[in-house]
Amino acid sequence: MVCIGGWFPTSCYGCNWKSELDSSAENRIIAMTCSRSDWCISRQRTWGVPIPVFYHVHTKEPLMTEETIEHIRNIVADKGTDAWWYLPTEELLPQKYHDVASDYQKGTDTMDVWFDSGSSWAAVLTKNEGLSFPADIYLEGTDQHRGWFQSSLLTSIATTGKAPYSSVITHGFVLDEKGLKMSKSLGNVVDPDIVINGGKNTKDEPGYGADVLRLWVSSVDYSGDVLIGPQVLRQMSDMYRKLRGTLRFLLSNLHDWKPEYALLYKDLPKIDKYALFQLENVVNSIKDSYENYQFYKIFQMIQRFAVVDLSNFYFDVAKDRLYVGGTVSFTRRSCQTVLAAHLLSIVRVIAPILPHMAEDVWQNLPFEYVMEDGLVPKFVFELKWPSLKGDWLAMEADDVDFWNTILELRSEVNKVLENARIGKLIGSSLEAKVILHAADGATLTKLREMCSATNDADALHRIFITSQVETVNSLSDEFLSTVPYTGKYTSQRTSEVWVGVTHADGAKCERCWNYSPQVGSFVDHPTLCARCYGVVDVQPLPAAAGVC
Ligand SMILES: [Zn+2]
Repeated sequence: MVCIGGWFPTSCYGCNWKSELDSSAENRIIAMTCSRSDWCISRQRTWGVPIPVFYHVHTKEPLMTEETIEHIRNIVADKGTDAWWYLPTEELLPQKYHDVASDYQKGTDTMDVWFDSGSSWAAVLTKNEGLSFPADIYLEGTDQHRGWFQSSLLTSIATTGKAPYSSVITHGFVLDEKGLKMSKSLGNVVDPDIVINGGKNTKDEPGYGADVLRLWVSSVDYSGDVLIGPQVLRQMSDMYRKLRGTLRFLLSNLHDWKPEYALLYKDLPKIDKYALFQLENVVNSIKDSYENYQFYKIFQMIQRFAVVDLSNFYFDVAKDRLYVGGTVSFTRRSCQTVLAAHLLSIVRVIAPILPHMAEDVWQNLPFEYVMEDGLVPKFVFELKWPSLKGDWLAMEADDVDFWNTILELRSEVNKVLENARIGKLIGSSLEAKVILHAADGATLTKLREMCSATNDADALHRIFITSQVETVNSLSDEFLSTVPYTGKYTSQRTSEVWVGVTHADGAKCERCWNYSPQVGSFVDHPTLCARCYGVVDVQPLPAAAGVC
């Protein structure tokens, strides 16, 4: 039996190892290691890595010196560890022992397997180009605080005085949807191959593809036990499709886009600057979460961003500019500038989790993307992480606050519009006019400015997807009696904002479906609004749009 001991507590404290990520794991590993008094590294097994020790046949004295170990090391490097078992003792001993080789016999003990795995850092980190000692991360289940984490720490401290890892990540175990351990008898085992490729009955066990399984892995907080089953996978598949839809929207609306069409940041409408502010914040938060291995936060951020910020707001509002604005109009080009920025960032930040989807997007990129170093990446993983856009983040705090107010106000407006729809005043929101009043003069002024925005992107009726928005200075009883649907928005940032909805003024433009008093005033196009008249006048035939 070969034991080593006595040096653990002092060496362990002396190594000053601190886990960068997980202080509870650090405490457990240090406590378990320091309470250990010795380590029996030999095992009496017929398999395993042999301990290169010889015993004197009469005195039983062990023989294991630097010289004998060096000799055996060279043999093992050449012939493998089995050489210990099949070579005669004489050959395993250095030259100077050959005359007395018959006095020795080989030891038959093998190394504790924890010693093998616990010394893997020496074989891996220091022998492979591109790796360095200590490792960034050791990753294992919670049962390994006493196992691999500890044995690695011991061998490394003993020989280098340092821990072999900067941090450790410990994870829980995979359980079924009810939190039960998976077993064949319960029939609740989830086979990753079936999740990816599908089972015999594809109705019950559809093939979701590797990305859906990867998305699930990213979505769970692995520091505890994690649950998986048919329902969880269906939810993941829905989320996957939602993200795919987001990327399809971006790709399809950039079909006629070229990077040289991009507008300068300073020239963008406020809504587009706000969209880039949000994008840059999300990209930076995702980067932080990758660096801290908190993948479930990335999943949550991407999900919220795709559904709330993009699908429910920016894309929803952008459709008017993209589909109805002139193909080469300022508002459409501005919107495409923002969409291209989103595509190029989102594809990069999702690539580590959803590599197949990201590559699919990249292979269908409708324009050529040239990196700062002049290279054109053929594959998504040739891209670098998006560079920090300081100007996008530099939006004034007041402006950010105001946009938060506008978004909350938009939710209230949508509620009043819904009531008007239920009451059959309107069908679509474009049949409505919204009227706003704020008791606070500053808020009222800002709202009035947005109503009269001339760039056709920041105008409040575009943001509410209604045909008109007006502000009023006061609310008389007589006026209130003319407004059938009302609501109120309050927040800590602003005084109360009153919301009213009536039917929109004018007639419906047959091209954009907005209502306008100007419909009917153009002799050559009596069914168009002023905006559409301008667009059609510039590009009378759809084929002309193909020029750009
Ligand atoms: Zn129109």
